[in-house]
Amino acid sequence: MSKRTDVNELGEFGLIDHLTQNINLQHASSLKGIGDDAAVLEYGNKMLVVSTDTLVEGIHFDLIYSPLKHLGYKAVVVNVSDIYAMNAIPKQITVSLAFSNRFSVEALEELYKGIEAACNFYNIDLVGGDTTSSQKGLFISITAIGEGEKDKITYRNGAKEGDILCVTGDLGAAYLGLQILEREKQIYLSNPGIQPDLGTNKYVIGRQLKPEARKDMIENFIPKANFTPTSMIDISDGLASELFHICKQSNVGAILEENGVPIRSDVQEIAINFKLDPITCALSGGEDYELLFTISPNDLEKVKYMPDVYICGEIVNVSEGIKLHTKGGNIHPLKAQGWVHFGN
Ligand code: ADP
Ligand code: MG
Repeated sequence: MSKRTDVNELGEFGLIDHLTQNINLQHASSLKGIGDDAAVLEYGNKMLVVSTDTLVEGIHFDLIYSPLKHLGYKAVVVNVSDIYAMNAIPKQITVSLAFSNRFSVEALEELYKGIEAACNFYNIDLVGGDTTSSQKGLFISITAIGEGEKDKITYRNGAKEGDILCVTGDLGAAYLGLQILEREKQIYLSNPGIQPDLGTNKYVIGRQLKPEARKDMIENFIPKANFTPTSMIDISDGLASELFHICKQSNVGAILEENGVPIRSDVQEIAINFKLDPITCALSGGEDYELLFTISPNDLEKVKYMPDVYICGEIVNVSEGIKLHTKGGNIHPLKAQGWVHFGN
């Protein structure tokens, strides 16, 4: 009798490892295969960086509260964010769609208005894709292609003991935006006459529905400050989960300082109103599309005065594990709870 294994037994990353265990890279040009934010391909003195992400209706977005234009924009952003996380510049995308007959030409036009807006803002060319039908729902799969320099491409596996942990922007807001949209959806479903009260929550809702990738950091601030991070990852699943990826792949430990994790005060207030701990939203929330990176201590002076970069910890020996130093002075093991997409 053949055995049936539920994919939940392996988890997302366990499943990818399992399915790809026999894949060997055959070309010298395949510099980096599976395992980072993007693959890195070497062609002459230019490095091509390639990444794919798929958004599925009902899993990654809900059309009750995601306008199609914003959704198109976001679908591009989540992909270019992976290119930036390699310290590379996105140049082209391809867009593949599958949709049911529920979607009209006008609806798809809206989606493309958002895709176009993102292409203009991030200065990328839409060079192809695929269009097909689905039995139910909308699927958007985007591949982003970027360009980088060999000595500047930044992997997840370059962090060294003594390096300093840095994070950009502010965290936790996108998750709280989602909580508000879900709450208003429930109210709307039970009483469609009531208009949603999005009131003072504009910032967090904007972070959820129309996120931005850190083009400014990679194209401007980091080159101007004249350093290369030793490792980098974008924050799609929450700070804790991304720090685990860096530590696992670099074979190091880390101490994360709660005091150094940037959370806006208005965002903290919204968390508390939801009876959520703000630091938990930042650590496990996800979808902020900020950058987490490590730097050599020699570059500290260069980073200290950069706009919107926050120092939030240190890389330590692997034997010390991954720990959170709380505001209250306690040190305890960090828990990683990224998004699980294989739920019911
Ligand atoms: P991210 O969170 O940055 O989008 P993922 O978690 O989706 O990255 O993927 C982790 C790594 O596994 C990436 O290198 C990705 O290209 C690779 N990967 C994901 N799914 C598959 C698959 N079905 N087959 C081969 N490689 C995959
Ligand atoms: Mg990524």
